[in-house]
Order: sequence, then structure tokens, then C-alpha cells
Amino acid sequence: MSKKKLSKKDFDSLVDVIISKTKVYGAVADANKTDCFDFKELKSASGLRLDYDVTLQAPRKFFLPPVEELLTFGEEGSYKSSYECEPFVLLGVHPYDMIAINQMDELFSQDNYDSHYFARRNNATIVALDVITPSENVFASSMKTATVDNGYDVLLTDIGDCYIIDAATEKGEELVKLAENASEATGSDLEKRQKVQDDNKKRLNKHELKCDPSYLPKLLEKAYDHPVWEETAKTCFGCGSCNQVCPTCYCFNVKDDVNWDLANGKRERSWDGCLLNGFTKVAPDHEFRSSQADRFRHRLYRKAKYVPNKIGGQIACVGCGRCVSACLPDIANPVKIYNRLVEDLGIE
Ligand code: SF4
Ligand code: SF4
Repeated sequence: MSKKKLSKKDFDSLVDVIISKTKVYGAVADANKTDCFDFKELKSASGLRLDYDVTLQAPRKFFLPPVEELLTFGEEGSYKSSYECEPFVLLGVHPYDMIAINQMDELFSQDNYDSHYFARRNNATIVALDVITPSENVFASSMKTATVDNGYDVLLTDIGDCYIIDAATEKGEELVKLAENASEATGSDLEKRQKVQDDNKKRLNKHELKCDPSYLPKLLEKAYDHPVWEETAKTCFGCGSCNQVCPTCYCFNVKDDVNWDLANGKRERSWDGCLLNGFTKVAPDHEFRSSQADRFRHRLYRKAKYVPNKIGGQIACVGCGRCVSACLPDIANPVKIYNRLVEDLGIE
């Protein structure tokens, strides 16, 4: 696969060419708040910000939309699955978000293969992007997610005067071929890229975890009855913002919407969140995580024990820092909780 370099001006032209051929989503600044970014459909390269710090929403929304129709149903059990998926390019996914997508790929292919998720995933060409501007709450260095080496089709790195565009798949190669003025990256260009990545492994660390992330599942084995859950959850609003912004949260609810004729209708799924009241409510009005402390603890256990158990020990917190910024009472930061447990329970 090719490793090319391209001037920034030529990269803008490349983006415009791609936009002329397919839908492209990239990070753009909010119209009213120039330091606030989110992934939007691009109409031209001019609004694209490859120096963004973090997007408000994680790119998981492109594969698992907040609300989606799964199927329509009719009389006598007939149904038709709904798929709405055209090819698209997702341009500028930071390494920690790419790792979250890789985790979701594993989770959605286990047990029940999620064909709706993979219809979108297979239609996507992902251009990952090494971070240039660290966000105020990122801690990807602590979580070992500051760089990524798989899952994407192209890896893009700003090395100062130009970009390195590194194709990792056939789809990526097709995209790179559109860059007419690209030249082969030299050894010195690749050294500059290595420096960007080595620096990011240290500097994306606004909150430092006091243990290796691989120790977290073991730490949590002895923390179930620790007072931190009750103490911290006292100020939790149960608003679910920490779930909504998280790139690794994937819980959803499914509901049927029946037409007035009581015969036809549609089935939809929408995001849910383990911090929300009612998340575990089942018939007959039984709620098996009824206290806020139970729900608060579950979120932290899910990130560092339950999901790792399913996907070979990978921690389902990639250190993006979005929950830290989103939580009004400032209690969602996983590092603060895990560090408190390390202090109180020690490292074995
Ligand atoms: S738990 Fe917080 S920091 Fe970790 S991945 Fe989710 S939103 Fe990002
Ligand atoms: S931890 Fe913070 S963001 Fe999460 S539900 Fe509680 S108050 Fe909301």
C-alpha cells in the first residue's frame, strides 16, 4: 500500500474531488462557537478543520444513528428490513475514536451479527487523522489510544508543511489515487510522522491514570463495595450526557410503532444510556439497578471490566475526555474514579 505526501493546498483540492464523487463528512466548527466542532456533511473543503481538538459527538453516530428504523411490519407476520446506506467518506477520525469504532466492530459481530451496523460500516471509507490539537480533557496517552494502527482505510498525518497520506486498504488506495499531485513520502517525511505519533503518546494526557489500563479489570474485581460509588453518585443528575457523548457506548432501546390500523407499523431503535433512570426497568415494574449509585458504578464497570471481558481485555474507555467536558457536576471523569481506587486499594 502507498505512503504519499501532499501539500496542504493540494489536499484541499483532493477533498473537493472526493466531495464531487461521494458524500463526505468531516469536522467543522460551530457557526456561533468557533472552538466547538462536530462532524457534518461537507459541501467543499473550505469548512473542513483538520486541526480540531475533539468533536462534540463521537463518529459512532454514522454507524449507530441516534434513531433508526430497523424494519416495517404488516399483517400475518410479514416484515421488511429497512436499510438506508449509501457509500460515504468519514474524514479526520482521531485515533481514540478509530479505536472505539474498532471495538464496536468486534462487539457488533459477536453473538448477534448486527447487519444494520455493518451495512453502514461496510459503506464507509474512514480517513483517520493523527491529533494536532489536544483537547482540554483528553487522556488518550494514559489509555494507550493516542495512535492507531488498524481499522482505517487511510491514515492522515500533518507533518507541518504537508500531509502524509498512508493507504491501508484497497478502498483507501482508490482514494489516494485521486491525489494527482501526491509524491512518494521519503524516509525523512516518515520520521517526521513518527515524531508526531511519539509525541502524541505522551502529550494527550490532561488526566493521568495512575496504573496501566490493563490493570483496571483486576482493580475493579475488588472495588464493587467501595464507598466511591455512593459518594460520587450523590451529585449525579442521571442526565445521561456521559453516555450520549461517549464513543464506546452502544446501548439502545427498541420499540414498535403501530399504525392506527393496528396491523402495520415500524420498529425503531434509539440510543439508551445506563445512567438514565428506567434503563433497567422490566416488567412488572421491576428495576434491577434502581439506585443512582448502582447505575454510576455500572458505567465504570462496563468500561473497564464487562466490555474488556468480551473483547480480549481492551478497555472501553479510549480517553477522549468528552464525558469529562459534558458532566455538569464534574463527576464523570473515569480517571478520577480509577485513581481513587488505585490509591485506596493499591496495585498488586
Ligand atoms: S468514558 Fe468518557 S473519556 Fe472514556 S471514552 Fe467514554 S466519553 Fe471518552
Ligand atoms: S455522571 Fe454526570 S453526565 Fe453522567 S449522568 Fe451523572 S451528572 Fe449526567
